[in-house]
Amino acid sequence: MSWPTQQDTRTALDNGLPPPHSGIGHVVIVGAGLAGLCAAYELTKRGTRVTVLEASGHPGGRTRTLRAPFADGLQAEAGALTVSTQCDDYTVHYLREMGVETEPSDLVGTDFSYCREGTRIRPDQTADHADLLGLHPDERDLTIEEMVARYVTKPNKDIGPEILAPLWGPSPRLLELDQLSVREVLEARGASAAAISLIEPYFLEMRGNELGTASAMAWARYESGPWSLSAAGAEWRKIKGGTDMLARALADKVADHVLYRAPVVRITQDDHEVRVTFLDRNRLQTLTADRVIVTAPFVGMRHINLGMARLSPEKHATMRRMRYTSATRVFLQMRRQFWPEKQLMLSTDGPVRAVRDAMPLRPAGRKILECWFSGWSAQAVASMGPEERVDFALDEVEPLLPGTRANFELGTSFSWDNERHIGGAYVLPELGHHALMEPARRPEGRIHFAGEHTSYEPNGGSMNYALESAVRVLLELSGS
Ligand SMILES: Cc1cc2nc3c(=O)[nH]c(=O)nc-3n(C[C@H](O)[C@H](O)[C@H](O)COP(=O)(O)OP(=O)(O)OC[C@H]3O[C@@H](n4cnc5c(N)ncnc54)[C@H](O)[C@@H]3O)c2cc1C
Repeated sequence: MSWPTQQDTRTALDNGLPPPHSGIGHVVIVGAGLAGLCAAYELTKRGTRVTVLEASGHPGGRTRTLRAPFADGLQAEAGALTVSTQCDDYTVHYLREMGVETEPSDLVGTDFSYCREGTRIRPDQTADHADLLGLHPDERDLTIEEMVARYVTKPNKDIGPEILAPLWGPSPRLLELDQLSVREVLEARGASAAAISLIEPYFLEMRGNELGTASAMAWARYESGPWSLSAAGAEWRKIKGGTDMLARALADKVADHVLYRAPVVRITQDDHEVRVTFLDRNRLQTLTADRVIVTAPFVGMRHINLGMARLSPEKHATMRRMRYTSATRVFLQMRRQFWPEKQLMLSTDGPVRAVRDAMPLRPAGRKILECWFSGWSAQAVASMGPEERVDFALDEVEPLLPGTRANFELGTSFSWDNERHIGGAYVLPELGHHALMEPARRPEGRIHFAGEHTSYEPNGGSMNYALESAVRVLLELSGS
């Protein structure tokens, strides 16, 4: 059996999806994030009987807009923030189909600056602080943009046209890079440790963990395209009203087919059917189906007993090996804006990797300072209690933005590692990631796999690739 390619999937988005195979009567979907909801929406449109089982009490998964406990209509995003109209074809397609609007992203055009050992440095002022930063003599006159061009953009272009191809097709050169870490590649390109620490916030700061174990293949692909923060422009948008509006619109369409607070605890299959056992108000219930689509992140799937699911050893190994970024965000409501920057975005050398104004385009009044923790610092903060996290963030932010404590009204936080059925922020492609990609998405008997982690792209981590995975699974169902 040959499975749909990335091109097949993209063509189906444009030309319309075929109905599922006539032998498929009932499909159970595990998870009401974007992948699960999109699959449910497309299947019900084609008259297929669908049951979506969602462990939490709401739709959206890793798109989560926090409206409480804030005052004055303030809100913040615990998960996804940005849509690119240039490359997020699937997101744009479903936003349009659901009638959900976008507006300019406030991650573009920020007043970005660094805080190093207590000194504020703008990206064009690095030459004035070359000693403090510890730059090599030949890097001392470069702005950060010039460092990004020298060590990232230009050499990545030299890899070849495949780096920017609309469909992912790794060349031998790219596969070689999958065995090298981002740090090794940057060092081989001549970047000093100081330069690496300055350009890091432009890329892996967003993705999280350690440059020494991150796959240079995935990074080169990401940084060469319009996904890169250093390339951000007008095509970067955000969803009007909150990122969760897309999931909510999809969930409305399939409301009668979704069971919330229904965590799946066991999946078994034989030659004839697949059985999905879930908790319904603390009682075990079992559904039988012709197919199951599992959209739970692999790290969150540790709560599902798959002992009799007939999964191959390769699938089990892939599920164990797939790594996820840790991300924790702390949100501090301020009585007023007391900083001068219109679009505050501060990268720090402390545990708070970045502090930003969560709603910079909103007129003056109350504000939320959003503190991003990623990788090791996200894990450290995740292990604290809720009040301790807020207090820790206040202690860290006060020296960077004096007046934080005086203007503080209330705080809240969100850790993706601590979400029982999710367990991490998004796939973190580490060395050798390519070997995991095909086994991650390959169906096993009657069980199909969707979700950002099953993407054709090495950098799944987006709403776009969660939606793409749903379209791909619908093609799988039509062919069987
Ligand atoms: C901090 C952060 C920032 C991000 N930034 C962006 C961005 O700017 N732009 C962008 O496009 N994307 C971004 N993303 C990525 C994007 O949010 C995700 O890739 C996408 O939402 C994943 O959708 P999904 O359907 O694959 O998984 P999920 O949304 O995780 O959905 C899976 C669902 O399955 C449920 N589930 C798990 N186990 C079970 C079980 N046993 N039984 C029943 N249900 C279960 C979960 O509760 C969850 O609702 C970001 C993510 C994070 C965390």
